[in-house]
Amino acid sequence: MFKIPNSHLTHSPSRCLSIIVPCFNEGDGLDAFFNRLEPILLKLQEYDYEIVCIDDGSHDNTLEVLCRHATRNPHIVVLELSRNFGKEAALTAGIDATRGDAVIPLDADLQHPPELIVEMVKQWENGSDVVLARRKSRETDHLVQRLVTQWFYRLHNWISECAIPRDVGDFRLMDKRVVEAIKRLPERRRFMKGLFAWVGFRQSVVEFVAESRKSGKSSFNARRLWVLALEGITSFSTVPLAVWAYAGFTVAALALVYGCWIIIKTLVFGIDVPGYASLLTAVLFLGGIQLMGIGVLGEYIGRIYSESKQRPVYIIRQRYGGGNLDA
Ligand code: UDP
Ligand code: MG
Repeated sequence: MFKIPNSHLTHSPSRCLSIIVPCFNEGDGLDAFFNRLEPILLKLQEYDYEIVCIDDGSHDNTLEVLCRHATRNPHIVVLELSRNFGKEAALTAGIDATRGDAVIPLDADLQHPPELIVEMVKQWENGSDVVLARRKSRETDHLVQRLVTQWFYRLHNWISECAIPRDVGDFRLMDKRVVEAIKRLPERRRFMKGLFAWVGFRQSVVEFVAESRKSGKSSFNARRLWVLALEGITSFSTVPLAVWAYAGFTVAALALVYGCWIIIKTLVFGIDVPGYASLLTAVLFLGGIQLMGIGVLGEYIGRIYSESKQRPVYIIRQRYGGGNLDA
């Protein structure tokens, strides 16, 4: 049997690794971030590299610090977005701007240990198109966060067309062809974890222990996480829409049985007037169910509406660095 050659394994001298770093109010931690990341990329001597940093409308000195680093190191490119578009949009901006043969999104807060890149590259060279970084434990999360995440993954994977792997975030290595596939997905509302999973390809996993945030604070509060979870479910499943037909059918069947019972009871025992409590309960119950159904419809219609406007996912105010500094 012969082996079909994999284009991965045909080395050319200038294979490039692209690191994508979305930054939102990370000014305090960026020096430490570059101090830790750059030696690792330098150690991978046989590769060229670029670090694409996206300033996602920060209010602090993030842009200033990024530009300072871009002046020092021509491998650093900075994209300044015109306002805060959110992490998913910032990642998309980064993905669109990369030219690397492998692309690695990395958080700027050092929660994703850059040391893992070496192992990821090794697995990539061994033929994986996607190398996922899986968190070994969730010790840095509190109990409620852990439980909610667990339930989210369960629900999502149960009702969605493609499962997203557990405990895997945006930190991963993707081959160029995976990135090209992701660029072809036209949707504006982007749940990146889902899109990454949807495109498929050969995957392998490396494990890591997430560290706690080195500086600043997480910008994902409960409300933003809820919005992200809704986005994930509505982007990849229509089950919440279909479920109302079954709910309606069940309620109608129960109502029929109950109606028959009332008729028989009336015929056998005569007319029984009191029924205020059961009547009110039934009206409120059905009203509630209908409102929930309309609410879910609304979620999807809102999404159709915002997709149909075809607004860009992000707007770049200016690009700095990458050797041709206009900062
Ligand atoms: N981030 C961003 N735009 C936002 C929110 C966050 O670019 O609107 C970046 C942030 O700078 C960080 C990464 O996304 O590099 C992860 O954010 P964070 O640490 O707040 O999230 P968590 O680790 O708590 O999930
Ligand atoms: Mg973080």
